[in-house]
Amino acid sequence: MTVAQDQDQTMPQPAPFRRAQRAAALSLSEIVRISEAARALQAEGKPVLTFGTGEPDFPTPPHVIDAAMKAARAGQTTYPPTQGTPALRKAIAAQAGFDFDPTQVLVSTGAKQVLSNAFQATLDPGDEVILPAPYWTSYGDMFTFCGAKQVVVETSAETGFLLTPEALEAAITDKTRWLLLNTPGNPSGAMYSEAQLAALADVLRRHPHVWVIADEIYQHIAYAPFASFVSAAPDLADRTLIVNGVSKAHAMTGWRLGWGIGPASLIKAMVAVQGQSTSGASSISQAAALAALTGPQDHLATRCDAFKSRRDMVVSALNTMPGLTCPVPEGAFYVFPSCAGTIGRKRPDGSVIETDADLCDYLLNEALVALVPGRAFGLPGHFRLSYAYSTDNLTEGLARISRALDALTD
Ligand code: PMP
Repeated sequence: MTVAQDQDQTMPQPAPFRRAQRAAALSLSEIVRISEAARALQAEGKPVLTFGTGEPDFPTPPHVIDAAMKAARAGQTTYPPTQGTPALRKAIAAQAGFDFDPTQVLVSTGAKQVLSNAFQATLDPGDEVILPAPYWTSYGDMFTFCGAKQVVVETSAETGFLLTPEALEAAITDKTRWLLLNTPGNPSGAMYSEAQLAALADVLRRHPHVWVIADEIYQHIAYAPFASFVSAAPDLADRTLIVNGVSKAHAMTGWRLGWGIGPASLIKAMVAVQGQSTSGASSISQAAALAALTGPQDHLATRCDAFKSRRDMVVSALNTMPGLTCPVPEGAFYVFPSCAGTIGRKRPDGSVIETDADLCDYLLNEALVALVPGRAFGLPGHFRLSYAYSTDNLTEGLARISRALDALTD
């Protein structure tokens, strides 16, 4: 027996890997599942069109890239302040209006980290968060990770996928900490008018313990006048966290730069969380975001117009297809049609489409078009199509979807 073998017998064996319970509870994103299935088909040489992901297909504006390069060359390469550089926080406060002070601004690695910081800084096990469905897939996982309970309130096409004051009132309990409002919304594209926000604020005034997250990341992709929650209810600013960033407006998803604006006490608690996780956003991305906010803004309107004409094209095409009904969204770059009319129909092989996920799997395998089923957003019977893709790809994808739906039988 060698010395090494002898040691093997006396040493304790390595224990199997064990995941924390809260990490094991995180769901594998449906969007990731679809993307992986699409990638597997692409690897077989199949020309899959993916309309699944939520990022603009435009490039980051050149003046933003120049500013980043200049910052790197000028030595802005050391740790920035955890809360964000004073110059960027000042620019963020200025563009938001409402006399916000830079101390009320936190810069993070994307709007996503703003949300995660907020939940970690405020939620204890048993706390409740009101989440109108359909919702962006990540919210629930982020706050259930903190032990909080999600209180899903379904909306429908009849109410324009908007939360009504009555439904909000019914969902509030003494454990409610946050109401999550996302306008314009992912995945529905629905947008609240100032009057609709004011009506929700009337309910919230009766429940002073409920705070609001206003996720306004799609603010600049709006085809009707955009209203921010704080403009509709300035008196509730002392319990509102505005979430925004450069990802969608300035086509900067990879720069990972977002911000939160809220009461100084909340921001301070979020800075403490961020200080012990990422230490803050990249100094280069902060310089880039400063250029995005303070430099030329004309690309915002041009790109919004381009998204609007794609929306019109996609909505009218989907509404001619058997089994689909597509409302006209007022913002973001998604449509969220009902596919209820396809449920119960048969594929060419005789098998039945039973769910929205079945339909998306069928369209992926037969039409080679990747879409995300509504169940991922808490509202089955629909699917999400992102139209942040070229008109050529959209035209081809819609023709394929149409052919595949025509092939379904009763
Ligand atoms: N909120 C919503 C509604 C989103 O759709 C996204 C991105 N998909 C985010 C927040 C996160 O954006 P960021 O890239 O700034 O992290």
